[in-house]
Amino acid sequence: MNRIIEGGCLCGAVRYRCTSEPLVRSLCHCRTCRRTAGAPSVAWVIFRSSDFAFSAGEPMHHRSSPQVQRTFCGQCGTPLTYQRNAESDTIDATTASLDYPDEFPPTREIWISHKLAWESLNPSMQAYPESSRQSQSASATEDRAVDIRRTGE
Ligand SMILES: [Zn+2]
Ligand SMILES: [Zn+2]
Repeated sequence: MNRIIEGGCLCGAVRYRCTSEPLVRSLCHCRTCRRTAGAPSVAWVIFRSSDFAFSAGEPMHHRSSPQVQRTFCGQCGTPLTYQRNAESDTIDATTASLDYPDEFPPTREIWISHKLAWESLNPSMQAYPESSRQSQSASATEDRAVDIRRTGE
């Protein structure tokens, strides 16, 4: 059951497709995503890069950190992907650029240490102070703290 998941930019110049399901679905509150997208937070789906390809057009790209490459449509500006050199077996795509973003809701909120004060956490998602890829012990501690805060509300 390999359905093809497709997405692209607002103007249609750049399109992409992936032949496998996302590995992770997250909502990122980091400052860099915020600035890059001009949005308070950015939802991402993480695909296997071996199954992912641009199918129309060529995106523009820039490095938001020395190791990180982000792509966007050079005509309409839609942010499209994020990729870390060191982890190039995966590529993140903006959930909102998918053709059917409602089918891929985020399950975790990450980088809540950068979160804007006026954005509320979704109680149905796990929250991480930074990347959910950080060491287990640190995130487990923070998960408990977040759970306690939720219980207290
Ligand atoms: Zn475009
Ligand atoms: Zn981010």
